[in-house]
Amino acid sequence: MTKIRSRRRRRVLRRWLGVGAFFLAAALLAVGLWWFSPARQAYDRVAALEAATLPEYVTVDLIPAAGTARSGLRLSDYTGVVIHYVGNPGTSAKGNRNYFATPGTPVVSHFVIGLEGEILQCLPLWERSVASNQRNRDTISIEVCHPDDSGRFTEATYRSLVRLTAWLCRTGELSPEQVIRHYDVTGKECPRYFVHNEAAWRQLRNDVGTAIQSPG
Ligand SMILES: [Zn+2]
Repeated sequence: MTKIRSRRRRRVLRRWLGVGAFFLAAALLAVGLWWFSPARQAYDRVAALEAATLPEYVTVDLIPAAGTARSGLRLSDYTGVVIHYVGNPGTSAKGNRNYFATPGTPVVSHFVIGLEGEILQCLPLWERSVASNQRNRDTISIEVCHPDDSGRFTEATYRSLVRLTAWLCRTGELSPEQVIRHYDVTGKECPRYFVHNEAAWRQLRNDVGTAIQSPG
């Protein structure tokens, strides 16, 4: 009698051990698949961006969430930097930042670079901007001020743009080829000067490539 009962108990125990081992193996498999998946690499790239300490030359001046275009959504990946021009000659970084902060404004980018080379950060780096259409989900956007209608940047502005873009590339291990124009996303004439001057655009990417190699 007791022998039968203990045999039955052992059988039940074995069955439960089998079920446990099955679920453990399934859990390990799931973790393993996630660990080596593109989704995890994408998650890591955004996390690295979020954890990075901004260079001291950037002034953090985030715009409020309420009433503005801020998406509140997390980037789904980080695979590029998109360059824009503000399209409003002579305006300052602060002026454009305040425009983003005005309720009803339909756009907002991560950074604005001013005519003196000053850099304002308007959005946390993990958050999706509203600037680059279908690439909002996986890029950092930079709006750049310009003195006149040609859309050409001042020397100080250009220097800051190269420096910041190189820092963003280093942080995400991006190559200069991953720095693109708004034009490359939608065909929009933005940033104007670099849409009409392919050589100047190639030079900008080259300068970013050089700056990636020599941090400063
Ligand atoms: Zn643009």
